[in-house]
Amino acid sequence: MNADDTYRHNVDRNVSAARQVHTITDRFSMANTYLIDDGQFIIVDPGSDLNVRKLSDYLPRFLHRSLADIDLIVLTHLHPDHTAGVGALRQLCSAPVAASAVVYQLQQVLEQGKLIPPLLAQLTEQLRPGPLRYFDIFPPFYERQMKLVDLWLTDVDGLPGHPSWRVIASPGHTPESLCLYNPFTYELLCGDTVITVQGGAPLLRSGTNRQRLEETLQVLRSLNVHYLYPGHGRPILGLHPLNNVDVEW
Ligand SMILES: [Zn+2]
Repeated sequence: MNADDTYRHNVDRNVSAARQVHTITDRFSMANTYLIDDGQFIIVDPGSDLNVRKLSDYLPRFLHRSLADIDLIVLTHLHPDHTAGVGALRQLCSAPVAASAVVYQLQQVLEQGKLIPPLLAQLTEQLRPGPLRYFDIFPPFYERQMKLVDLWLTDVDGLPGHPSWRVIASPGHTPESLCLYNPFTYELLCGDTVITVQGGAPLLRSGTNRQRLEETLQVLRSLNVHYLYPGHGRPILGLHPLNNVDVEW
């Protein structure tokens, strides 16, 4: 049975495959770190050195595996509270770090001081209502952080080596924000695109481009999600958690 057949089979029976996401965080964590176990391990948002220490305890203690089994590190976006632990984690494993290709494209624009023609239409739309807003939300420290990244991810593609996990571009909180979605387990890791620090209710984070945010919300609502894992706050387990999301305009 190939992946598409498996998907149809699960949809027909309305039965999902076993959950794959583990939450690696504690009450002192600035942001949530997640571990995906699909046989190998993907770490999503290493967060801080504290989260990396918790991860290096968790793997041997609860999964009886080692940090060497980490196959990939994914950054949902490049804000420091999600990326600060990358250095510590890379001292413990040799997995490549992946982030949205939008970072690379935007950095090219900044370096060259002009818009590259193929990007022009996309960025013109992103920049509305004015170019200065775009630069406000893309501060210079991204230049340093993008040096952490080995692999660039594009919308809708499967994660390298993990095709069940799809990249979902979710611009809004930042231009390069992405979510990871597994249509077989109905799990969605959503970084800071949606958080749950508001008393547990999902909150779509605001961005400077209202239209992009609306489009992101539509995309996320079109997914069949039973498990929502936000970058901040508690995961939500339940049918269609994004139906009643609040929007931070
Ligand atoms: Zn953020």
